[in-house]
Amino acid sequence: MIKYVSTRGGGSPVSFLEAFAAGLAPDGGLYVPQRLPRLPTDLRRGDAQPYAAEAFDFFRLFDGEHQGEELAAIMDASYGSFSDDPNAPLVQLDQGLFVLELFHGPTLAFKDFGLQLLGNLFQDQIRRTGEAINVLGATSGDTGAAAIHGLAGKEGANVFILYPEGRISPLQERQMTCTGAANIFPIPIKGTFDDAQRIVKEIFGDAEAKQKLHLSAINSINLVRVLAQAVYYVHAFLQLPEECRDNVNFVVPTGNFGNVFAAWMAHRMGLPTKRLTVATNRNDILFRFFNSGVYAPSEVVPSWSPSMDIQVASNFERLLYYECDEDGEKVASLMRQAAETGRVEVPDFDPGIFTATRCDDDGIIANIRRVHETYDYIVDPHTACGFQDIDSDETTVVLATAHPAKFPETIHKAIGQRPTHPSLEALKKVDPVRYPLPANAAAVREFIETHAAGRA
Ligand SMILES: *Cc1c(COP(=O)(O)O)cnc(C)c1O
Repeated sequence: MIKYVSTRGGGSPVSFLEAFAAGLAPDGGLYVPQRLPRLPTDLRRGDAQPYAAEAFDFFRLFDGEHQGEELAAIMDASYGSFSDDPNAPLVQLDQGLFVLELFHGPTLAFKDFGLQLLGNLFQDQIRRTGEAINVLGATSGDTGAAAIHGLAGKEGANVFILYPEGRISPLQERQMTCTGAANIFPIPIKGTFDDAQRIVKEIFGDAEAKQKLHLSAINSINLVRVLAQAVYYVHAFLQLPEECRDNVNFVVPTGNFGNVFAAWMAHRMGLPTKRLTVATNRNDILFRFFNSGVYAPSEVVPSWSPSMDIQVASNFERLLYYECDEDGEKVASLMRQAAETGRVEVPDFDPGIFTATRCDDDGIIANIRRVHETYDYIVDPHTACGFQDIDSDETTVVLATAHPAKFPETIHKAIGQRPTHPSLEALKKVDPVRYPLPANAAAVREFIETHAAGRA
């Protein structure tokens, strides 16, 4: 069975479940499969199956530890609850132009695909080990909400999510604070997202606290989240009409590079893909990288697509690993260079099947308006970044990463309507529960100690 190694070459290979439980590798690198398996034929051609069945066939290639029945139950639990079937419908807007709707999960954004599965794998881990866990994370919106919905009501798990008070959208806050689940602790702090992130890092950095409190992370570097996202590229491809399968371009609104890296993995495993478009907003570090081979972060600027407001794309290190021909030492040296100089320069960089586009705030509004006028279809501000410079000679599949009803004000600016969704309307009737704390690690740690699951 496949083992998992660090992108920085340190430590010994670990199993699927070990890589899942650890999140980050001990040398600071990210886990990648030691070799990428080939997709079985029925995942490369033929017709789409029910989503959970495809997810099962895909994970069977990576997870050699669960019994078949156990894995099937985990996939059913993760993807059976999505409101619409299929989970990731492909909607045709025009000849050769499709939208892959990834917003039918509980929090109406694609992050549900990774975090529903993560939640069920955590529950499975609690059952196997008999040990409770406390999940701790910081969020600027979508990730925290999806993590909370992945774990709400699950026995043996408590979830502590820090977020900057007043700096996430009211609907995103409601998705975290209105679950009614006793094991969920949304914690607004006075400060920025970076402050929240720093507190989480400080607590994880304290080995004694981490062990004593059975802390687990949910961030986007967990390999399981990336693998879970690779499945919907397969699912999209199998929904394409036969005559559209020859030159497929997946367009991916990108922040942390997790989603588009998942596409690249599926491609490497044999999914016929001609091009992958990395669609950025005004925070265009990846756009600049794919045009120059130089990765140079600058200041994060707030935009109309907040979940893409990122300058350090954590999953980028996984691509570097393959760019460096799977040489962990080379990656480690590039990452040291990054820590010292603040930039990474890839020698003889070859973008391969990647291209990149950039869309500023005016472009987001213009794209929402144009797509609405032309196709009578409403895209959210993140998805709107994908409708930039589309090449009509290809089959283009734009990933719709969130439901437009999550961003009613931006949509209103563009087309004068405020889209709604029943699940968001229902939240407005529930009283929010939140636990405001001062922005310091000691206070947060003490709060976790008091409310932790599995206290001795
Ligand atoms: C997280 C997110 C993105 C960015 O995805 P990455 O995997 O970080 O590249 C895009 N759109 C929405 C709606 C998101 O929540």
